Amino acid sequence: MSRVYNFSAGPAVLPEEVLKEAAEQMLDYKGCGMSVMEMSHRSKMFDDIIKEAEADIRELMGIPDNYKVLFLQGGASLQFSMIPMNLKKNGVADFIVTGNWAKKAYQEAGRFLTANKIASSEDKTFTYIPDCSDLPISENADYVYICQNNTIYGTTYHKLPNTKGKTLVSDVSSCFLSAPINVSDYGLIFGGVQKNVGPAGVCITIIREDLIPQEDLKDVPVMLQYKTHADNDSLYNTPPCWGIYICGQVFKWLKRNGGLAEMEKRNIEKANILYDYLDSSDFFKGTVVKEDRSIMNVPFVIGDKDLEAKFVAEAKAAGLENLKGHRTVGGMRASIYNAMPKEGVEKLVEFMADFEKKNK
Ligand SMILES: *Cc1c(COP(=O)(O)O)cnc(C)c1O
Repeated sequence: MSRVYNFSAGPAVLPEEVLKEAAEQMLDYKGCGMSVMEMSHRSKMFDDIIKEAEADIRELMGIPDNYKVLFLQGGASLQFSMIPMNLKKNGVADFIVTGNWAKKAYQEAGRFLTANKIASSEDKTFTYIPDCSDLPISENADYVYICQNNTIYGTTYHKLPNTKGKTLVSDVSSCFLSAPINVSDYGLIFGGVQKNVGPAGVCITIIREDLIPQEDLKDVPVMLQYKTHADNDSLYNTPPCWGIYICGQVFKWLKRNGGLAEMEKRNIEKANILYDYLDSSDFFKGTVVKEDRSIMNVPFVIGDKDLEAKFVAEAKAAGLENLKGHRTVGGMRASIYNAMPKEGVEKLVEFMADFEKKNK
């Protein structure tokens, strides 16, 4: 067996320990004679799995009792529709557009309500986070929407926007469980888990109870109403059982490893190794303004397409995979999620220094 250092933006690296446990339990989960993939979602065995997963993420994030944790399907993208469908009261929402994902959410919401773009960083290819201290928040906004960590562009909010009392909704897909957050600052937090938490196929939505409409929304399919999933503890229909099980194992791995404060410490340390090198190099260049840099996704360029293609190919040959940047940014991108060990980042920087020397 040989494993590479996988810098994919998503689906992405998972803790090796968790993969090994899953392999050990593949044929016979805890003596029940079957795999989690094969068991009824109504069984006691699975009920324990989903309840423990919820308890563990509640503990890790310090989720208050008046928030529901929902294990959903349809990826982060379906939340772009479910959020406006469920949260619209006045039929107005404000969007801060800091990248492709925020833009998609903004466009999708526009199908269901009046979506206002109140700030954007598109003028400079999303390389920064706009000043969010005094935005023109709509008086009747049902919520203010952000994408907290911009997977493609490598920016992140180091300070949440001033929503002037309006409900904050945040897409945390690519920074989920990477650092402690104060859940009470948000009305709704959601993330596709395939970036930092688990296998594709699960989306976790954490929603304050009073935001869940209690009446049957006649024009919203039952499966797209938060109430359906909240009332049934995410077991209205068959949930993505296997994915939830792996997420649960990742939560346990996080707890064993010191929780989110420790993750943040490690993630900052890893990111600094890469950023320090980028700042010292006159060959590679980070694309994001310093104060808005993400500790999860690090885009960088050489500025010569042929050399960049050569870099990606040679890195792959050296066991450093998936470093090609998103097509809209070009260049390279290293995603260094929780499960990326420090040695992976050190190896990458070593490789970069060597490549710089040979190709400058
Ligand atoms: C990947 C990603 C999405 C889309 O996730 P899907 O599960 O593929 O729908 C949305 N938002 C962010 C920030 C992402 O990184």
